[in-house]
Amino acid sequence: MSYQTSNNRAAHVVIDSAAIEHNLTRVTTIVPSAKVMAVVKADGYGHGMEVAAKALANADEFAVSSLDDVRRLRSQGFDKPITMLSATFDVDDLNSMSAQKVRPVIYDLAQLPTLAELSEKAELDLWLKIDTGMGRLGLCIDDAHLIAARLLSQSGVNSVSAMTHLANADDPEHPNNQRQIKRFLKFAEPYDFSQLSIMNSAGTVAFPQQANSMVRPGLILYGVSPQLSPQLSPKLGVSAQQLDLRPAMTLKSKLISVKRLPVGSPIGYGSRYTLDSDSRIGVISCGYADGYPRHAPSGTPVLINGMYVPLIGRVSMDLITVDLGEVRAEVGDDVILWGADNPIEVIAEMSDTIAYELLCGITSRVERIVI
Ligand SMILES: *Cc1c(COP(=O)(O)O)cnc(C)c1O
Repeated sequence: MSYQTSNNRAAHVVIDSAAIEHNLTRVTTIVPSAKVMAVVKADGYGHGMEVAAKALANADEFAVSSLDDVRRLRSQGFDKPITMLSATFDVDDLNSMSAQKVRPVIYDLAQLPTLAELSEKAELDLWLKIDTGMGRLGLCIDDAHLIAARLLSQSGVNSVSAMTHLANADDPEHPNNQRQIKRFLKFAEPYDFSQLSIMNSAGTVAFPQQANSMVRPGLILYGVSPQLSPQLSPKLGVSAQQLDLRPAMTLKSKLISVKRLPVGSPIGYGSRYTLDSDSRIGVISCGYADGYPRHAPSGTPVLINGMYVPLIGRVSMDLITVDLGEVRAEVGDDVILWGADNPIEVIAEMSDTIAYELLCGITSRVERIVI
């Protein structure tokens, strides 16, 4: 289906809200007894935070990474609890959080002085984040033991939950996964935590039996597989389709030029590619200034009229070039750079990056059409 953009640029993304809704249902099928904290940070992974939040109306709560995001969701009328994954805050913020149904994450001892000033009437529901081997945000286990009991009995604190984050969940066989899970459960064992949460998307898919009381998916809600693409890694890979996830974002544009060039013709900046036979080349209005990865190599698939054609030559700011061969295509035809039939996982892997970066990297000039 073709949609008219209003800004006179052909490159645009189409966001399928029903796909996001479907993917949430999939998560609840994979982990039926866990609650779902739907992660909508980074503008809903580039899909639009409000668009995502609306489609995720059946989630138990949201997660964002700043108070600005919280304000944005509240001003749009979303009233679910929100966990603020990685933000800093002062005592006024903290005291008003329970009224706003916001849950802060305590991940560093430097946050304790602020917490100590908490009003006795605050009724705060907070998370302790434990570093069990990720080596990023989170209290070391010894430090967490020093403060957990105190927080649980602090007046003004209504409940304490605990979370950790796996560093290798996209590689289920990696021994650190079970090591981290074991460490976390051993830490949590003596305490009366309200909720325990370990799994992001990859963890939810790989270790559903160990989901505990709450999962924190982001990527899979947007219909992207957290594992390698089977197209590129046939033995290891698992596709979004195999997981019954529906990609929510399609990056589309149009062919703006088609011409014949003879064998040997150099294509694009640096003349890094030359045609190995007479062919027809197509030029597409989309480049790295739209968020298409500059490092996409020659051969990266582009979908035109139901046929896959290879990108050739370097990606430039506003344009990419494809070898059309004898594929039926003319100026004005629709092009799918990624989407359901042209998996973003493949484009990302071939470009030496991850789908997360591509989703978040769509730039502001690219119009977003929500269906
Ligand atoms: C972003 C984030 C998630 C979601 O990760 P996905 O891989 O997108 O599922 C989960 N937990 C934390 C702490 C995060 O920062």
